[in-house]
Amino acid sequence: AKTRKGNQYKIFEHKLHGKNDYILIFESKLRHAIKENTLELHYQPKIDAKTEKLIGMEALLRWRDPELGQIPPSEFIPFAEECGLIHDIGEWVLRNTALQIKEWEQQSDFNVRVAVNISPLHFKKVDFVERLVKIMDETKVRPEHLEIELTEMSMMDYNEELINKINELKKLGFTIAIDDFGTGYSSLGYLKEFPIDTLKIDRTFIVNINQGESGIAMVAAIISLAHALKLKVVAEGVETDVELEILKRYNCEYVQGYYYSKPLNATEFTSKFQNEF
Ligand code: C2E
Ligand code: CA
Ligand code: CA
Ligand code: CA
Repeated sequence: AKTRKGNQYKIFEHKLHGKNDYILIFESKLRHAIKENTLELHYQPKIDAKTEKLIGMEALLRWRDPELGQIPPSEFIPFAEECGLIHDIGEWVLRNTALQIKEWEQQSDFNVRVAVNISPLHFKKVDFVERLVKIMDETKVRPEHLEIELTEMSMMDYNEELINKINELKKLGFTIAIDDFGTGYSSLGYLKEFPIDTLKIDRTFIVNINQGESGIAMVAAIISLAHALKLKVVAEGVETDVELEILKRYNCEYVQGYYYSKPLNATEFTSKFQNEF
């Protein structure tokens, strides 16, 4: 694998310090985790701001290595993108999310959507849709249960192929959310080209929401842009009731964040939210 300049991978670099080829060790650990199914998905609820009811959840990947301990996705996802493991990780996430949905469907009258994060590199593979459909067929889960979260980065330099791909996903019944909205440096042109369903306002805007008028102005502007385009809005990283109240005042539909719940493993999530499925 190529190495990244700077201290991007500080945790494993630090913990594997003194060992030769720590990049190769890390890569083989990650490869092993995918193969041996020691990765885990946690789920964070998305809540309707008005009714406070569960409307869906986001699957977030967790990895604990016996030697290195818990490694955050902000470290191993960029690494996986560089060394090429991101495709296997993405498929692992899709398959295991589908299996979890199946389990929930068998236990209850499950009618919410689970969102998965898909790397732009994975999404841009030519056979992405084909392989996704194969996973859905094999697990017998309907696309109506899945939302694909794509960052603005995925929309950069969009072309006809990308537009076709998103249209195809929509036609199949998947929904599309734009993640970390407002942090990408891409133009907004893609918003009207693509049949997107949801914008997720990045947490950095929510953090600033009660730091004076300009913080509120940014959030209000994003919400009204979304509504003008007939998109729903999810606010990410909502931690306080002050933030929640401001978001409600500007008619933000959905919220996600520690205020309601941290990401939980499937067992915890089920016992806390099953009555809202
Ligand atoms: P993201 O998609 O923006 O996910 C939201 C992140 O914010 C999660 O961090 C979540 O735990 C955290 N979060 C949620 N509510 C709050 C809050 O109220 N306060 C604070 N401080 N944080 C909150 P996490 O799980 O560490 O994931 C970080 C990033 O790693 C994700 O950002 C996403 O970009 C990436 N990621 C996670 N799982 C996957 C995956 O399965 N596939 C891919 N490609 N990327 C993933
Ligand atoms: Ca996300
Ligand atoms: Ca996000
Ligand atoms: Ca983020």
